Amino acid sequence: MSLHGDYDPQNIFAQIIRGEAPCYKLYEDDDVLAFLDLFPQSHGHTLVIPKRAAARTILDIDADSLCKLMRVTQRLTQALVDELQPEGVQVAQFNGAPAGQTVFHIHMHIVPRFAGQGLAVHASSKADPLELEKLQARLLQRLGG
Ligand code: AMP
Repeated sequence: MSLHGDYDPQNIFAQIIRGEAPCYKLYEDDDVLAFLDLFPQSHGHTLVIPKRAAARTILDIDADSLCKLMRVTQRLTQALVDELQPEGVQVAQFNGAPAGQTVFHIHMHIVPRFAGQGLAVHASSKADPLELEKLQARLLQRLGG
């Protein structure tokens, strides 16, 4: 998939927004949804997506939706850092397959980084559902949810 093309309303994140596919939800408002990554690059890997913008990449999204996405991304980054105490945190966003994008609904990655664990870009395995549930409960408490 290149940078350019039509938005596919059947992509997995669109299905999650419509409630047709499950997710480990951490945050939702009228414009933004955040949930745990199923194939995490680290403990706490979180995705933040716009709900209203049918945008594949940063080139497609309107500035207002992007601002709302970033506001929530910053808030969740703070919550993840406060709760998990990583030594670093990556906030990343990929556009087009050659840049590493695999799901073509724009999303922000928040990846807590822990000293000595390396910088995996693609996780090799699916997360343990029980671990995701525990982490979700912990972070929801932190977020006051
Ligand atoms: P990207 O490579 O930037 O397009 O990132 C897509 C991310 O979505 C990857 O980190 C995947 O592990 C993650 N992912 C794919 N399907 C799901 C899903 N159903 N629920 C949560 N995360 C997912």
